[in-house]
Parts: sequence; structure tokens; C-alpha cells
Amino acid sequence: MSTYILGHTNPDSDSIIGAISLAYLKNQLAEDCIAARQGEISPETKFILEKFGGKLPLLKTSYAGEKVYIVDTTDLAILPKDILKATVLGVVDHHKLGDLTTSTPLECWIRPVGCSNTIIKEMFDFYSVKIPKELAGMMMCAILSDTVIFKSPTCTKADTKAVKELAKIASIEDYKKLGMEMFIVKSAVGDATARELTTRDYKEFDMGSHKIGVGQLEVVDLSVFDDKKEMLFEDMKKLKEQNNLHGVIILLTDIMIEGSQLLVVSDDESIIEKAFNKKLENHEMWLEGVLSRKKQIIPFLQPLF
Ligand code: MG
Ligand code: MG
Ligand code: MG
Repeated sequence: MSTYILGHTNPDSDSIIGAISLAYLKNQLAEDCIAARQGEISPETKFILEKFGGKLPLLKTSYAGEKVYIVDTTDLAILPKDILKATVLGVVDHHKLGDLTTSTPLECWIRPVGCSNTIIKEMFDFYSVKIPKELAGMMMCAILSDTVIFKSPTCTKADTKAVKELAKIASIEDYKKLGMEMFIVKSAVGDATARELTTRDYKEFDMGSHKIGVGQLEVVDLSVFDDKKEMLFEDMKKLKEQNNLHGVIILLTDIMIEGSQLLVVSDDESIIEKAFNKKLENHEMWLEGVLSRKKQIIPFLQPLF
């Protein structure tokens, strides 16, 4: 029986490429593994797969009775509903420890670095397994995405080291240029529906007895949202009702000037104002220097709930 490797819902490039790269490594180690995904891929991930000829992981959302490895999260809120009925053989992640529990011992690779693929790169080194050229390119892009081309406060020396080594294997000289190309693809929001945008990189977090949805859109120029904010707010309100949330926050992140415009729909806006020590104006606030949801947003909200 094959083991499935999956990342979180609304998969980002790290979750998709992480499933692919870990499946490759495990297969080299004679463990029969299949890369899976929990949802549609983003235009950014599509760009990476096309650039390096990567295969789209299998769409699979139910895992009762299966053996799995999980990458890029340990939060039940963004894992398949029946994940506790699967046997979790291992976890590779770079987030806060979530609420996933297991009934058997597991292989655990969790470290405070910028990207799961950085840890997977280290796993390849640990097991002395060679990374194929195309796979190296994909892993490198995943790290550049998660670390916002090294600008994110989540980026560590381990991430920059991994990118440099992977770039060498992939024969890519100007990896920052490729990173920018990728973020330009990510910035194209023209044709997307409101729901596609609010949920493109969206996670729900349990905070006390409440649930908060936090989405993020990283672009190279915030003006692409000038005529979209109204539509985003409308959809955030719908999302809040549909998922019975205390609030929905969307971070419109400008990776060039390095900061985020927060759009807020909440039962209690004062909590958001308190968390960031700033007043909302028309349900919006600008947070200078904020690029990371997990490091600069979530830890400030959690204690207030
Ligand atoms: Mg992720
Ligand atoms: Mg990640
Ligand atoms: Mg991200």
C-alpha cells in the first residue's frame, strides 16, 4: 500500500512542491510514496511546475485508513477532515506546533526556518540522496516564495544556504531574477473571482473559542487591488457568514515596499486595533514592514482571544 504525502488546504507552492520533493526522497529510500494535494494549485505553483516540468500531485481530500506524511502544517483546521483516521508516519514543517496528534510514533522534522523545502533539502543531505536538476529548481522556487526572496522575517541562514545550493544543482545563476518573475506571475489578479482571491492563500485559525480566517495576497504593486477592494470586502463578509467566523482578515502585501494593507471584517474590530496598536480607517490599516502572517500577524492576535 502506498503512502500519501500531503500539505495543507488551499495549497501554496511549499505544500505542493514539498509533497513532490518528499515523495521523491522517500521513493529513493525505497518507501512507496505518492505526492498528493488537497485542492487546486495557484498560478504561482503552476508557473513553477511548468518551468521545471513538474507533475501535478494527485488530488485527494480523504485519508481514512491511509498512511501519510504531512508537510507544511500540523494544524487540524487546514488538514483533511478525516486525518485523525489516517496513520501519520511523519511530519515536515516550519510552523508553530499545531493540534495534530498521532497514535503511533512518528518521524518529525520541525524547525523554525522559512520553508518546508529547506528542511527537505537537509533531509536529502542527511540521507545522501542526490536531488535531480528539475526538482532542485522547484524546491528553490518554493523557498524563494515562502521567504519572499529572503525579505521575510521568517527567512534564516538555512534558507539562503539551501537556495544557493539548489540553484547550483539547477544551474540557475540569477535566482533572485527568477524569484521576481515568479512574484510577477503571483501579482496577476486581473481575471480571478473574489473568492479565488480571498482564498488563494487562506488559512483559518482557532483562537480561544473563536475562528479567524486570514488570507494573504503577495504582489509587486498594491495598485492592482485599487478596483478590487470593494469586491474583496463583499466576499470576506460572505466567507465570515458561511464559515461561522469571528472575523476575516486579508493581508494585501507589497513585497517591494515591504508592508501590508490589512482589510478587516470582524465582530470586534477593536481586537485588531489593539493587536497592532493602530486604528482602522474604513476597515483598513497599513502595517509597515509586515510580510509574514505566521510571524507578524497570528502571534499578535492569538493572546487577545
Ligand atoms: Mg504553506
Ligand atoms: Mg511553508
Ligand atoms: Mg506564504
